[in-house]
Amino acid sequence: MLKGIGASEGIGIGRVMMVAEQSLDYVPKDVTDVDAELERFRNAVDEFCNNTTEQADAIRKSTGDKEAEILLGHITMIRDPFMNGEIENLIKAEQCAEKAVEQICQMFIDMFSATGDEVTMQRATDVKDIRDGMLAILLGIHEVKISDAPAGTVLVVKELTPSMTAGINKENIVGIVTETGSQTSHSAILARALEIPAVLSVSGAVTSLSSGEQIIVDGSEGEVITAPAEDVIAEYTAKRDSFLRDKRELENYRGQKTVSASGEEYELFCNIGTPKDATKAMAADGEGVGLFRTEFLFMDRNVLPTEDEQFEAYKQASLIMKGAPVIIRTLDIGGDKEIPYLGLEKEENPFMGFRAIRYCLKNRDMFKSQLKAILRASAFGDIRIMFPLITTVDELRDGKALVEEAKSDLRVSGIAFDENIKVGVMTETASSGVIADMLAEEADFFSIGTNDLTGYTMAADRGNGDVAYLYSPFQPSVIRMIKRIITCASEAGIPVGMCGEAAANPMMIPLLISFGLTEFSVSAPSVLKVRKNIAKWTKSEADAVAAKVLEMKTEAEVVAYLKTAL
Ligand code: PEP
Ligand code: MG
Repeated sequence: MLKGIGASEGIGIGRVMMVAEQSLDYVPKDVTDVDAELERFRNAVDEFCNNTTEQADAIRKSTGDKEAEILLGHITMIRDPFMNGEIENLIKAEQCAEKAVEQICQMFIDMFSATGDEVTMQRATDVKDIRDGMLAILLGIHEVKISDAPAGTVLVVKELTPSMTAGINKENIVGIVTETGSQTSHSAILARALEIPAVLSVSGAVTSLSSGEQIIVDGSEGEVITAPAEDVIAEYTAKRDSFLRDKRELENYRGQKTVSASGEEYELFCNIGTPKDATKAMAADGEGVGLFRTEFLFMDRNVLPTEDEQFEAYKQASLIMKGAPVIIRTLDIGGDKEIPYLGLEKEENPFMGFRAIRYCLKNRDMFKSQLKAILRASAFGDIRIMFPLITTVDELRDGKALVEEAKSDLRVSGIAFDENIKVGVMTETASSGVIADMLAEEADFFSIGTNDLTGYTMAADRGNGDVAYLYSPFQPSVIRMIKRIITCASEAGIPVGMCGEAAANPMMIPLLISFGLTEFSVSAPSVLKVRKNIAKWTKSEADAVAAKVLEMKTEAEVVAYLKTAL
């Protein structure tokens, strides 16, 4: 068995098609007729651009616009007067086209790679793709055509490039194995978009596997099973069928209410980062937005977004959600996310530092402009405000006072907004859990951010592998914290949701039902799964499970028990 990263769920059983890298070696030749060589180069550029346009069209149909744009960028680069001109200059100096292309592309690859910036370095991969495509054309090498792959093919490749993905026919390719790539790499995103099981970062895949051999790709577990015996094939065939059956069965939950087996109703919302994500939330059957991470509007740019820009984004999200609730979290920056133009100082301990509500309350003009943008958008739908990283009642009061100031500014200007806009607290710090009763008296709602709540309760950095054994929402202390927050909200009569990753965890769901959570907010692909998992439990069954869990003293005990309880 080979281990890798499970990047796209599901099981594929098929025969290997090795997409080996073609040798692009050549012997540089002397150029005697410069004009003819220039013409050969220009024809190759035309052919390259035609191929790329065809590939982009195919990928637009199979995957989407964004993926097609990645490819079309290759045309812009090769036609760019600077890159193109430099290549032609070398040819005019009597170098052959292959050498000229290779040399200039290498110059760009070195330049992009040296920046250390992830986005710019990604462009080096694009230039490599251009170089290889151009050399293949100039050398008359025809690539293995992925589009000709027969049914039941597992693609095995060192690195899956966007241009390869364009040739993939979903009906015939049952699995993908690569030697490089992570959960968030282009290959992973493309494999998930195509819904093809994929295992990435399998070291030595290209050398240890060979074309035509039968293998099993388990994209859920990140495993590649080689030379499977009959009984193993039977076992995985059953697993694959059950995976596909579950997937189809989930569709039965589309358009349904979110209810437990004993009839309690819940709200099932989505987490989004941009207004465009709201479209995904709608398509996934989300009933609202439980967390709009507004920091994405502030990232990848050089200046603050204006009040108008923000207003448009918030309004758009609300319109896309057709007036369903949209909970907008005010700027939560610092810790793991960087916005260079804010000029934040490097901190020893950014997760405990000057971030989120702390930063906003000290940068009041910027904060007020965000609040005004949210308020203006509230005239167009059910929009709510949520403050991140609250640790004291003062912070909540101060934030609410600023909301009132923003409201009176708008009143003076005669601009419409929802006078009764709800202002809630993201309970994600240990302090907010401990004083949840006090906060509940002054907040309109809570949403539990278990990603941070787990970290701050356990004093375990959410990104540090060495303390990952502590970072679990099933630690007894975190479970107690969650229970306390929900209980305090219920006693104060305010709604309480959960927008951390734990909300979608099937093992967490009975506990949340028992404790009295009212709203779940999850990523779009989890919506139907969560609805199905909620429907499995009656309130009394959930209560029995929760009572047992609350008696357990270790995380291992809790997890082991919940696994059997499912
Ligand atoms: C959380 O902390 O649980 C949360 C949902 O917010 P983020 O992951 O953006 O910190
Ligand atoms: Mg958080």
